[in-house]
Amino acid sequence: MSTIFSKIINKEIPADIVYESENVLAFKDIKPQAPVHLLIIPKIEIPKVTDLNGSEHSLLLGEMLDTANNIAKEMGIADDGFRLVFNCGYNGGQEVYHLHLHLLGGRKMNWPPG
Ligand code: AMP
Repeated sequence: MSTIFSKIINKEIPADIVYESENVLAFKDIKPQAPVHLLIIPKIEIPKVTDLNGSEHSLLLGEMLDTANNIAKEMGIADDGFRLVFNCGYNGGQEVYHLHLHLLGGRKMNWPPG
């Protein structure tokens, strides 16, 4: 089932897009939890982490990680460090069922997370 992120991919609703390729899109989270909070998503509809498998999605996941690293470097948060998060399912706190990688940085993160 399509989510609001499909509408962002299709440019039916606006988003603050910072990077786009044939396969992935990165945009600012509408409710940032850190000075830098971006979401990196695949353009194909994959609901959640448990729908991934390494053989089929390894290149896509690699591109998502490269995108996160490149954005972190461009935004000047790579040297101090940052956090990458996939929330999965109800207990993981997932709200939007279109796979997304959170990139959080610009402040010291707490551990354990809430
Ligand atoms: P999650 O809880 O991992 O599913 O995270 C979903 C994230 O999507 C939350 O951090 C929301 O703030 C963010 N979000 C929801 N709608 C939008 C939107 N239209 N544009 C940007 N970020 C959004």
